Amino acid sequence: MKKKVLSVSLSGVLAFGALTTVAPSALAVGNGPNYNGNESIQTSILHTHEELVDFLKTQDAKQEALELEVIGESVKGRDIYLAKYISNPENPTILFLTQQHGNEQLATEGALEFIKHLGANKVKGVLENVNILVVPMLNPDGAMGDVNFSLENYIADGDRHLTRYNANEVDLNREHAKPIHEMQPEQRAFYENVLEKYEIDYLIDLHHQGTRSAIDGELVSGSMLYPLNEEVDPTVVENSKKLGSVVYHAIEAKGWGKIGKYRGGTGNNIGRNGIASRYGIATLLFEMRGMSDHEYESYVLGQKSNGYLIQQSVLALESSVKAIADGSINDADISFWDDLPFQYWMGEEEVEEDE
Ligand SMILES: [Zn+2]
Repeated sequence: MKKKVLSVSLSGVLAFGALTTVAPSALAVGNGPNYNGNESIQTSILHTHEELVDFLKTQDAKQEALELEVIGESVKGRDIYLAKYISNPENPTILFLTQQHGNEQLATEGALEFIKHLGANKVKGVLENVNILVVPMLNPDGAMGDVNFSLENYIADGDRHLTRYNANEVDLNREHAKPIHEMQPEQRAFYENVLEKYEIDYLIDLHHQGTRSAIDGELVSGSMLYPLNEEVDPTVVENSKKLGSVVYHAIEAKGWGKIGKYRGGTGNNIGRNGIASRYGIATLLFEMRGMSDHEYESYVLGQKSNGYLIQQSVLALESSVKAIADGSINDADISFWDDLPFQYWMGEEEVEEDE
């Protein structure tokens, strides 16, 4: 408890220092008055796993086009769901994956909102032309803080803590180079019942990063990257870059988002690389600003940013399905990647970002 109070006030000081240097673009979401220091970080407003299941079942009852499937169980026995919209198996298929890391929940909140929009026909005319698969909250034990290790130093308030790891303290986004039968139960379920079963063309793997990443002296609202492993087919890399282009330009056009280039590795143990190598799926890593809970103050973002960040993930999902449905993704300009600056950490301590 002492540690928490101390770190909050410290970050308030750091936040003030950082904000004075980035005042000109205070409208961008990354630079709002919600740096993270002096507002509550409340996990109770996030869907619990049980609430997520209720939400999906409610939508399933309402939406004819939606089919729900349980693809497996977490270490602690929580059901992991796949939400499917498959109107024609011949159509291109995109898969959205959230919360491999349990403490990165706003992307899941965005995915649920996206599912609701599909039911309300807010994304016109896409379901006839693109198949959509959504796996929200791959790591429900981490999301519920129901794990076999201590979370006592975690910062957020609320009914529960959320952690990156699964119940066995394994990072699910380092499992991707393994033979499937050696993976943790959550990842095995995802491989056996999603990646092995469907012809998938595109994947957006949604994550959250720390709060102090910046480009050009301004905090970013997110970052993205395509696969870098040399085994990935060049056409797949190109399609990944096109997917990134669609999402990048949709967010930039809104004016409140600012996207940097993620400085990521080449290892196939990471989903962005491993899934592209193994299945020839065009993958995009999309990291949004700030985590729902963590031991480190500089990783956790106050809840005033939740609205923008949820909308940013909804926008990423909706813009990509639209561009695939109307074929415009094929003409997406990938040259912006060459000019997109790598993000860097703007703060006192240097903290490594981990997709
Ligand atoms: Zn992550």
